[in-house]
Amino acid sequence: MREKEAKFVQISPDAARKPLFGLDAVGLEKVIAEAGEPAWRGKQLAEALYRQRVGGLDGITTFPKTLREKLAAEFEVGRPQIAQVFTSVDGTERYLVETPKGDTVETVWMPEGDGGETGDGTDADESDRTWHRATICVSSQVGCAVNCQFCLTAKLGLQRNLTAGEIAGQVVAVLDRQRVEIGRDRVNLVFMGMGEPFLNYDSFMGAVKLLVEEVGLSPQRMTVSTSGIVPGIERFAAEPDAVRPKLAISLNAPNDKVRSEVMPINRKWPIEAVMDAVRGVRLRTKERVTFEYVLLGGVTDREQDAHEVARLVRRTGLAAKVNLIAWNPGPGVPFEMPREGAVEHFKKTLAAEGISAYLRRPRGRDIYAACGQLKRTVEG
Ligand code: SF4
Repeated sequence: MREKEAKFVQISPDAARKPLFGLDAVGLEKVIAEAGEPAWRGKQLAEALYRQRVGGLDGITTFPKTLREKLAAEFEVGRPQIAQVFTSVDGTERYLVETPKGDTVETVWMPEGDGGETGDGTDADESDRTWHRATICVSSQVGCAVNCQFCLTAKLGLQRNLTAGEIAGQVVAVLDRQRVEIGRDRVNLVFMGMGEPFLNYDSFMGAVKLLVEEVGLSPQRMTVSTSGIVPGIERFAAEPDAVRPKLAISLNAPNDKVRSEVMPINRKWPIEAVMDAVRGVRLRTKERVTFEYVLLGGVTDREQDAHEVARLVRRTGLAAKVNLIAWNPGPGVPFEMPREGAVEHFKKTLAAEGISAYLRRPRGRDIYAACGQLKRTVEG
């Protein structure tokens, strides 16, 4: 495994150059002004980086060669690159994405296609498209410090925070690979990959702003999941609707006692403190807060747990739904999958209590792409 990983950890020959990817239109205009060029060239640069998804300065065809060379003396595009692809039997793709610094994070593409495109009059270059909508799962840190006991990423510990450009760059790299057309294709983003977004708040929100304002994605098609970082939720509550994604709380337990065992962060910010902070978020019409709930066999998957979760969710007074996820096994993680039928029964129990509950299909389990499984498992 060491050998395999080593080939992705290499010093880029452009390491000394500064990345342009990650700067917003204003920042790019400043770069352009310093190069002695008019402001509209900054807009062209933003268009090239975020809409045309160029991978190198040579690709900016709206710029004269002299300007490209002038910029190349000091800058590079510096967008993260997909270094390796693992494809699941269910169509999910897990990517090892290499940052300009040479380390790697994981990003996942989950198509939910109906396969009915061919022969219905769509353009020829669309005939191989097998999806109508898809979700990209994005990482916010290299590793994670939160230490949820059921999570493979936790085993890495926190290695570093990603920059805004490195977070948004995962998305743009995947949009490019999948030839997504903004405005035509339905793509959702979930910030649920490696890391705790609210422990890297400025970079996370910087990435969201880039994705909304420069790439053209809607914040209402984005969901950020937090383990319950109260100061982060409070900051998030103050974000304007124009750039605020939807919120998911990674709940995973029916009460503080069990939650503190499976998510030690609960000792710092117990459930009621998290809910108080969540109540500060002004939800849009029809928007609901999601509670993510990983069912651990014999620990959180019993009928009494479902009743307790229903009471807890009702007590919050929030417009909410519950996403149920059967725990995905991972090497060295000491839990068991829920018993046969337990997840369905849990869902029915919640529904009988009047709580909307959904089952998240495990995606890409065979390639370690499912929830809680992201850990640079290059052996796939
Ligand atoms: S579940 Fe999320 S917050 Fe918890 S350790 Fe894993 S990556 Fe971090």
